[in-house]
Amino acid sequence: MPEIWTQTVKGQHLRGRRTRNTMPEIALRSAVHGLGLRFRLHQAVVPQCTPDFILPRYRLAVFVDGCFWHGCPAHSPTQFRGPNAERWERKLATNRERDRRNDQAIDKAGWQVVRVWECEVRADAAAAADRVLAAACSGRAGG
Ligand SMILES: [Zn+2]
Repeated sequence: MPEIWTQTVKGQHLRGRRTRNTMPEIALRSAVHGLGLRFRLHQAVVPQCTPDFILPRYRLAVFVDGCFWHGCPAHSPTQFRGPNAERWERKLATNRERDRRNDQAIDKAGWQVVRVWECEVRADAAAAADRVLAAACSGRAGG
């Protein structure tokens, strides 16, 4: 039997990059789909910036942000301890800064951004999907 490598949660976590098709992402997608919205996966809206999914009809870009890496107020540590504390703080600050830059770039391109925390989806995927729907509707009203 060939050896099968199992990707550990810890490994994904430490790689420090946006991972694809995570559980919250899939849960949100299926809830959004259930509302009758159609989307495309992993398409760049602006160079270097690929939302988790986009709703082209509404020009809406949706990100499902991991609590740790993107600085969720409830679940991301605000203070690190130990020898690498400063490095971690810098890393997370860089992530947040990049998120902000991406939001601005997407906005400039005439798209709307919705960011959903991973924990929001875990708590209530339907409510998170409603937020996406609300954004889609509000965007449409403007043209
Ligand atoms: Zn969270």
